[in-house]
Amino acid sequence: MDKYLLFTPGPVNVAENLRVAISKEDICHREADFDALLASIEQKLLSLFQIRRRGRYRAVVITGSGTAANEAMLSSVVGKGRILILSNGEFGERLHKTSLIHNDRTHLIEVPWGEPFNLLEVEAYLMRHKIDVVAMVHHETCSGMLNPLAQVGAMAKAQGAIFVVDGVSSVGAEMVDLEACNIAFCSSSSSKAIGSYPGLSFVIGRKKQFRKLKAHKANTTYLNLATFYDFLKARSQTPNTPAVPLFFALEQALTNILREGVSKRFATIRARAEQLRWGMRKLNLEFLIDEQDMCSVLTTVIVPPSVKVGDLRDRLREKSIIIYEGKGCFQGKVFQVGNIGEMSKFDIKFFLQTLREVLVTLQTEAADLVVPIRPAEPSPALITPLCGALASTAP
Ligand SMILES: *Cc1c(COP(=O)(O)O)cnc(C)c1O
Repeated sequence: MDKYLLFTPGPVNVAENLRVAISKEDICHREADFDALLASIEQKLLSLFQIRRRGRYRAVVITGSGTAANEAMLSSVVGKGRILILSNGEFGERLHKTSLIHNDRTHLIEVPWGEPFNLLEVEAYLMRHKIDVVAMVHHETCSGMLNPLAQVGAMAKAQGAIFVVDGVSSVGAEMVDLEACNIAFCSSSSSKAIGSYPGLSFVIGRKKQFRKLKAHKANTTYLNLATFYDFLKARSQTPNTPAVPLFFALEQALTNILREGVSKRFATIRARAEQLRWGMRKLNLEFLIDEQDMCSVLTTVIVPPSVKVGDLRDRLREKSIIIYEGKGCFQGKVFQVGNIGEMSKFDIKFFLQTLREVLVTLQTEAADLVVPIRPAEPSPALITPLCGALASTAP
């Protein structure tokens, strides 16, 4: 096989019409052609988010991966205020690390990777401290957990704070209701559930909040959201040279989603996850977190006994299948199977069949090396506290 099947949470296999879109004619980003292209992307993003009062929201597109959009938000919206980061995994930690670079007054509530937040604790913290901005990851990709936007958004609003969300790995697969969840700004990228090539990201947010950004002293030139907003408003352009071919591809990816229908696309991705989870449960595999807490874009699976995750990954790659290994404190303990991008039912069947063959082979090989009778393995409930340390910290 000359192509890989990317069962990863981004990068993804792109649709054939994106390969055509990315090689369109050369245009100049200071001409009307580009203005129209960016305007079209922006309108399609508003549709993807199913915004009801479209006049109140705008979206800027940044040349740079999802991290660029996150850093643009964290460096542009806080000013001299106080920001509270909620972290329950790798990407929450990254938000915290980025905020520390730009904002002296960075607060943190941290729970172990893969665990839900205690919302009462969050609420109490917000009542005890004067917080201006609350930031949280929607889908914590390291564990697959979906965090509660509506509840945290309501708490932030009740305490007069704005709410910013890292939606990099959920937008395009899960509903992010900016209006109902009181979200001021949400970031995402081209190369995860939206299904395009890597290299672009965006921040969608309330016009009212975009306008307020000018009041803050700039912390960055390239990622300054206020500057992006100025160029968008004045000319439907970007401040610096954008990666135009990627804009063509993103536009096509959004067109594909809207043609299918946003709700239908979400349902398609969820159905794939269900097919994968059903198949993996049949192989006696166990998952890191409860299925009801999972996002629809990936499944985090406990590495079965006597299997090394590196070997599993290598053997699957030999069959053209790419999966992810767990990172940080999950390293060696879990693997992740994504189901976004172009992926057919046949691809999923092929994956499940191949996974079965590879696991049987690896376990047979291991049984030849060790005594085949082993004690009962602890259940995932006992394994779950894979990571320690929880705390909240103020600067
Ligand atoms: C992938 C990811 C990022 C980082 O995106 P890059 O495109 O790799 O820069 C940020 N947040 C979340 C939740 C992610 O899944």
